[in-house]
Amino acid sequence: MGLDLFSDVAELTAALVDIESVSGGEGPLADAVEEALRALPHLAVERSGNNVVARTELGRGERVVLAGHLDTVPLNGNLPSRVDGDRLYGCGTTDMKSGVAVALRLAATVPEPNRDVSYVFYECEEIEAERNGLRKLAAERPELLAGDFAVLMEPTGGQIEGGCQGTMRVEVTARGERAHSARAWMGSNAIHSAGRILDVLRAYEPPRPVVDGLEYREGLNAVFISGGVAGNVIPDECVVTVNYRFAPDKSVAEAEAYLRELFAGFEVTVTDAASAARPGLTHPAAAAFVEASGAEVRAKLGWTDVARFAELGVPAVNYGPGEPTLAHTRDEYVELPLIAECEQRMRTWLAGRTNVAP
Ligand SMILES: [Zn+2]
Repeated sequence: MGLDLFSDVAELTAALVDIESVSGGEGPLADAVEEALRALPHLAVERSGNNVVARTELGRGERVVLAGHLDTVPLNGNLPSRVDGDRLYGCGTTDMKSGVAVALRLAATVPEPNRDVSYVFYECEEIEAERNGLRKLAAERPELLAGDFAVLMEPTGGQIEGGCQGTMRVEVTARGERAHSARAWMGSNAIHSAGRILDVLRAYEPPRPVVDGLEYREGLNAVFISGGVAGNVIPDECVVTVNYRFAPDKSVAEAEAYLRELFAGFEVTVTDAASAARPGLTHPAAAAFVEASGAEVRAKLGWTDVARFAELGVPAVNYGPGEPTLAHTRDEYVELPLIAECEQRMRTWLAGRTNVAP
């Protein structure tokens, strides 16, 4: 049974939820999405793996991207979906098949949007980054993700979350010299020296940089500490693993330089890093989105796939009808009126009118 993109957005969300799509098993859902989109003559549809991209080709002066992942976390006795009052319960309702349903409805019912639109549905967002469908598209078919502005329809409770903070993990190593603890003066205690690393962390006051009008809040925290040789040995090494969350006014290289300066005198090794993303709200397409949506705008403090768009030079925000705190929970649900509101706001932006088309 195929998907009916002309059905009510609540019914469409339920239909999407009822096609199980735990990460790695998105095939049947990607098939259904592809089939439904190929039936629409105004869209150019491409499939790569379990990623489906549909684009209008109207030659408009701007192109925007609406994106959402098709996969969910593993089931927890929460399929099939069920409606209770104004709520739709089930795995993937909030994260993020309600957002996917809104995008599919717009793809079907706004054949001549006021700006060209690329609809991107992708696989494997909930698992390791190597398999992420958006990452693969960015690497293999970046032209399919090109645009002036992107909206990732992850759950945000109907608020716009701009950009995202970057993250970097470093190992900060204090060195010493081993000795018998009965003759400690013959060595140098690396764990004691690491106290100065902790002093730096304790004294750190998180900056709150304002980027494109949004206030971010940085973070610098020890997340692991290791050291010690034996119960009677002065330790010669102590490693403090530090996680730095930085605002999008810094690149990965600048974040690294900042940490090296902060921990001058210690060995600093970067073990993991992901860049931040600017919200790009100054772009006219983004400003029009904020105005049409009427939604509140705040900074995104976690790391999300919007950073993958930023790496391609496409400013991006998160905006979706789901409630983020319910994501990945057994009792995950979405408020049906919020899906309808999200669809109406997006329609206002893309179709320039508020009445719902067919
Ligand atoms: Zn998600």
